[in-house]
Amino acid sequence: MIPVLSVRGVEKRFGAVVAADALSLDIPAGQRVSLIGANGAGKTTFVNMVTGYLKPDAGSIAIEGMDIGRRSPRNVARLGISRSFQIPQLFIELTAAENLAVAISGVGAHSLSFFSPAEAHGRHDKALELLGRFGLTEMADRPISELAGGVRKLIDIAMALVRRPKLLLLDEPTSGVSAEEKFATMDRVIHAVAPDASTIVFVEHDMEIVSRYADRVVAFYQGRILADGDPQDVLKDPEVRRYVTGGS
Ligand code: ATP
Repeated sequence: MIPVLSVRGVEKRFGAVVAADALSLDIPAGQRVSLIGANGAGKTTFVNMVTGYLKPDAGSIAIEGMDIGRRSPRNVARLGISRSFQIPQLFIELTAAENLAVAISGVGAHSLSFFSPAEAHGRHDKALELLGRFGLTEMADRPISELAGGVRKLIDIAMALVRRPKLLLLDEPTSGVSAEEKFATMDRVIHAVAPDASTIVFVEHDMEIVSRYADRVVAFYQGRILADGDPQDVLKDPEVRRYVTGGS
């Protein structure tokens, strides 16, 4: 089977900083992969390159065998990659449902693809269906500016689902969520995305979330992959404990 994502020898520098150092990895369909690493290890750079927001200096990235080359984020999204953002990218003056409708009609950062007028017909219903899946029906008519950070993150993830992505990348889905709510939030996310996205890559700093929700963990350090494999093994790895999890 061709992997959903195939990364080969990818490099990215910012001046003297090596943010991606000969990165290679394959992600097969159906995996839930967590990217871990200290601040500045290169996780967001990786997500940005895979989604077309940053161009690698060298190497190749393919989606189901199709090289994304130097495509724009819009064209990468058309190949079936969607993402959420560390800081939600929402129109704060618009309501939750209006934000979803914008994504469904094909503009905005998450979808970036066009629907025909016939497809556009069901936009509002689809927006409500997505919000309902995240338990946010009652938020539909509220402007984003009135909603809490955790709710905004969920709406941002809902935005990424409108094109039923082959690969969904979530950048720190639980950041800003309280310790008491983190598992409930992640349960909600996993349940809500399941009908549309089965291959998920999520950046995460919380190792309890990682060990509970990931099938596989890729640990980054200074733009390199330090360890890649089963969560139990990676989280026990001495180098990962030293450079990533701080011995916790
Ligand atoms: P965090 O957990 O803090 O989000 P990260 O693992 O996602 O960190 P990146 O944001 O990918 O790390 O950053 C990797 C390195 O590249 C860091 O040293 C960062 O300062 C640098 N970097 C990232 N983007 C840029 C940029 N646009 N210009 C200059 N340096 C950058």
